[in-house]
Amino acid sequence: MTVLVPVLGDQLSHGLASLKGCDPADTVVLMMEVAEEAAHVRHHKAKIALIFSAMRHFAAELRKAGWRVDYIRLDDPENAGSFTGEVIRAAERHSPRLIRVVEPGDWRVEQAMLDWQTFIGCPVEILPDSRFLCSRDEFASWAAGRKELRMEFFYREMRRRTGLLMDGKDPVGGKWNYDAANRSGPPTGLKGPPLPRFAPDAMTNEVIELVGTRFADHFGALDKFSWPVTAQEAETAAAAFLKDRLPTFGQWQDAMVRGQDFLFHAVLSPAINLGLLDPLDLCRRAEAEYRAGRAPLAAVEGFVRQLIGWREYIRGVYWLEMPGLAEDNYLGATRPLPDFYWTGKTDMACLADCVRTTRDNAYAHHIQRLMVLGNFALLAGIRPQDVADWFLVVYADAFDWVELPNVAGMALFADGGRLASKPYAASGAYIDRMSNYCGSCRYKVKLKTGPDACPFNALYWHFLDRNEDKLGRNMRLANPYATWRRMSEEKRTEYLASAEAFLQQLQNADAGWARHGQ
Ligand code: FAD
Repeated sequence: MTVLVPVLGDQLSHGLASLKGCDPADTVVLMMEVAEEAAHVRHHKAKIALIFSAMRHFAAELRKAGWRVDYIRLDDPENAGSFTGEVIRAAERHSPRLIRVVEPGDWRVEQAMLDWQTFIGCPVEILPDSRFLCSRDEFASWAAGRKELRMEFFYREMRRRTGLLMDGKDPVGGKWNYDAANRSGPPTGLKGPPLPRFAPDAMTNEVIELVGTRFADHFGALDKFSWPVTAQEAETAAAAFLKDRLPTFGQWQDAMVRGQDFLFHAVLSPAINLGLLDPLDLCRRAEAEYRAGRAPLAAVEGFVRQLIGWREYIRGVYWLEMPGLAEDNYLGATRPLPDFYWTGKTDMACLADCVRTTRDNAYAHHIQRLMVLGNFALLAGIRPQDVADWFLVVYADAFDWVELPNVAGMALFADGGRLASKPYAASGAYIDRMSNYCGSCRYKVKLKTGPDACPFNALYWHFLDRNEDKLGRNMRLANPYATWRRMSEEKRTEYLASAEAFLQQLQNADAGWARHGQ
């Protein structure tokens, strides 16, 4: 009797825990393209194409390596449409003695998985995902008894555990964190090196055609599709990053330049999240670049921190806080998502450009997500569940475990500060300092109020004012609140009226639109 090993779409790693120790002669690997996953939110077309193409390539590699793969395509007439339905059907075909699966990255899928044993009547072994450095149990132990979870302390433990950028017990260079060196605004003409592009092969083209037909009304473009879909292609992308962009990764990490969609970012998150790249290996290779004198410490430390710090921390928080995190709304935000998040039709140049790169590439870099798209949603008081759904739909790297804590916790403070010590709220001045957006915007960033002023300016004070009961005692907001309280009554009224007028205008504009996407 065989072992049935379901491999999910973001588990495309040859070293996957469920495959380890299995005898290919006695194992059936089950891979499933199911409508429930492709359409439970209306994912960006390029994201669906990426996942299905990477799955089909991975199945071909497994077969070549001697595994028996039972692959269910989306257009198989018998397709049951859900993981559970397909696992039941596969159990009928193969009569397994055991189902062995790695824990999923989505709480909803895990809930379904926990019922498999009852439905199918054979033992189901759910294994920890060993592709993460810190297991869910280890993170829960680290978090237990702490009043506040802070990434920085968790990150230091991960540095010690891995030995990355360590000199014995001390951090290389004497400091744990070089973030302060990584905040330069962009000089005129800043351009990143060209990104390696991967032309779709016949298998990818077949998937692109399927997605173009079946999900024609979903958000996003397919014509620029060039994501790496195999481990080999992802390795080419990683090698190019380490050579061409890592040395300047840190310095321009927070910079935004209109039309420059990737700058010096890794653009590796989809491949990492699918399992095509090993994040620890990437960190070791980044460290080797520093040790060889080819990349500065601040850049390499910044990159390592994103992967063994933020990425692992975010995942730990997700499993600690679910399912409540999905419903959190600490600031009581209720406004629906403005239509321009789908259409890009807004006079705010920063938001228009961030939506454009999102639509074209299924990608926007971190500061565009956090300080433009997220910041606007925070300041305007958009309902966290609307925002989270949007972020899950639009990015090629968006899986629930990583998207939700970033949106609800980091961008929107919907968890009341368990993840971040203060909201990432900023006025137009920040966007102006870190980008070249404002020069070409019809709104004037230097104007504080009125119909021509950058809307971020008045919205910033409106946000602080309307949330004073919840945020007014936050020590990290002491300065802005002191400034707000020092302002004349007249000035404050002007700010609030200006923000109200903008929000009303937004609401009126949206009332006339047919909803897109969601
Ligand atoms: P780089 O900037 O080059 O960073 C290198 C790597 O570090 C990334 O590939 C990623 O694996 C990791 N990383 C960096 N920051 C984070 C973080 N905060 N959380 C987790 N990993 C991180 N990342 C996702 O992978 N999926 C998401 O759905 C996602 N949604 C986000 C939503 C919001 C509102 C915000 C603020 C951030 C989100 N992030 C998400 C984190 C981050 O923006 C992306 O990982 C990053 O932009 C991916 O591009 P890159 O590979 O060029 O990253």
